[in-house]
Amino acid sequence: MRIGVPRALSFYRFHPAWAAFFEQLGIELVVSPPTNRTTLEAGLPYAVAETCLPMKLFYGHTRMLVGQVDYLLAPSIQRLTPSSSNCARLIGLPDLLRATMPDLPPLIAPNIDLSQGIRALIPLVLEMGAPFTRNPLTLRDAVAAAWSAYRSTRQAMMEGRLTPADFGYPIGRAFPALTDGIPVGVVGHPYNLYDSFINHQLLTRLARLGVKALTPERLAPQPANDYWAFEYELVGAARLALKRGAKGLIAVVAFGCGPDAVLLEEVQRLSDEAGIPLMKLVLDEHSGEAGLVTRLEAFVDMLRWREAR
Ligand code: SF4
Repeated sequence: MRIGVPRALSFYRFHPAWAAFFEQLGIELVVSPPTNRTTLEAGLPYAVAETCLPMKLFYGHTRMLVGQVDYLLAPSIQRLTPSSSNCARLIGLPDLLRATMPDLPPLIAPNIDLSQGIRALIPLVLEMGAPFTRNPLTLRDAVAAAWSAYRSTRQAMMEGRLTPADFGYPIGRAFPALTDGIPVGVVGHPYNLYDSFINHQLLTRLARLGVKALTPERLAPQPANDYWAFEYELVGAARLALKRGAKGLIAVVAFGCGPDAVLLEEVQRLSDEAGIPLMKLVLDEHSGEAGLVTRLEAFVDMLRWREAR
């Protein structure tokens, strides 16, 4: 039995927990390969032009798995805290897939809504495990393994021993973003920060330029209680980075993302109030590598000049 996991969207947040849960049930997980041009082009026919880039990539990663797996994991992530919500695309993800791809394997598509607290996990776990076991003790052990994996990877990321780019690989790969250097808050969703194809190896380039990237998962373990839970990764992380002494901010957003367009204004306000430079990086499928490199070099030069002055 094989479950396909697209390397996109919630993969970069929850994969250690999914992996521990299904491995405890004796199920093999198949993660799609890292994004490349083929992945992107495979997803484009299933999305209208205005769809955000991360969603197009989820479609592309899904296409890489069709025909190779018995089930496909496509959760609907609705609420992670009592007062927060997610964007409509993350909530409607399984329905969007079913509507656009008639040849999919059966979906494992739990509705993740934690607004009622931890008890909401019980029906969720039963639903996810139902195709594979009805044994409550096995499911209990799988949940314990998932929770333990989630907590330990969050801790490892805060300590700089791991990043979401390492998910799906053996622990211990060194990621170049974890260097010392001039501290810069690099804020955005993990699927934008850690997919090195769509961001043209942003974090690697910053490390080479002598930047210590203060990324959301290094700054705090939990989403804040912002209205959109995932917006913590922009505004909440920018606030924390400034408190930690960031000399600049880089906000990474995807073209076609409505929530991020609104939240960028808030990041701009934080940057203005602190008197700290902000670089806005909007990713889309047409953005070129050369332009990005030039902008990064100029931004880091400017930060060094400010420090020297
Ligand atoms: S938050 Fe933005 S980038 Fe992420 S799935 Fe929603 S619209 Fe797309």
